[in-house]
Amino acid sequence: QPIIVAKNVEKTYDNGFHVLKGVSLTVNKGEVVVLMGPSGSGKSTFIRTFNALEPYQKGSIEIDGILIAHDAKNIELVRREVGMVFQQFNLFPHLTILGNVTLAPIHLRGMSKADAEDLGMTLLKRVGIDHQANKYPGQLSGGQQQRVAIARALAMKPKVMLFDEPTSALDPEMVREVLDVMRGLAESGMTMVCVTHEVGFAREVADRVIFLAEGMLVEDTTPDKFFNNS
Ligand code: ADP
Ligand code: ADP
Repeated sequence: QPIIVAKNVEKTYDNGFHVLKGVSLTVNKGEVVVLMGPSGSGKSTFIRTFNALEPYQKGSIEIDGILIAHDAKNIELVRREVGMVFQQFNLFPHLTILGNVTLAPIHLRGMSKADAEDLGMTLLKRVGIDHQANKYPGQLSGGQQQRVAIARALAMKPKVMLFDEPTSALDPEMVREVLDVMRGLAESGMTMVCVTHEVGFAREVADRVIFLAEGMLVEDTTPDKFFNNS
């Protein structure tokens, strides 16, 4: 069943740039969608509207039945449903790895510290970082930090995970460890929308490849068709 339903989404930035020109996309539960397209085509802006990081002006976006208002005011509900991982890992440098992962469960979900730490350790184990739980982000490699960022997003028990070029800032040898975690997440049935240039990941893991160009969705097809036709 549909979990992300975006209809005719239009967005113009304050400077007048019309970045999204009526984009529609439906993603079903458990689907993995890879979003591709040239730099500047609006990929990042589009997925940022899904968790109300960007307001939009026309059309509608529903996540698991929750309407994201145009002005992105009802963000709290939707942020619980949607986890996001960025190109820059955005970890809190003054908190330990475990502290980064437990922050939202304690403060936004009201979990006890002990329960949040149990959950945090389980998630850190899942991404292979549990032995680094008491270190600080600056002591970890980029690939390790990105895996922590994934664990931190999962700690809110989201129904949808968004990835915005999660491997673009990583040294080549670290790309694989992050893609492996994403692949595991996909296999566990997570609904995922991933902006990435990783063709191998798209071919092997994606159910659908979406292509955005100049703010319009110009292709929505299977990886097989997408990569054989282009
Ligand atoms: P992509 O992820 O496909 O590279 P983005 O969504 O990041 O594209 O950006 C699409 C276009 O919107 C780019 O031309 C970018 O410069 C522009 N843009 C992004 N953010 C802003 C902003 N805050 N104000 C004005 N233009 C912006
Ligand atoms: P990415 O492609 O990784 O999203 P960008 O370079 O497009 O990175 O954007 C980085 C930041 O700069 C974002 O917060 C975006 O909103 C902002 N930005 C990008 N282009 C513009 C622009 N033309 N005017 C104002 N802000 C912009």
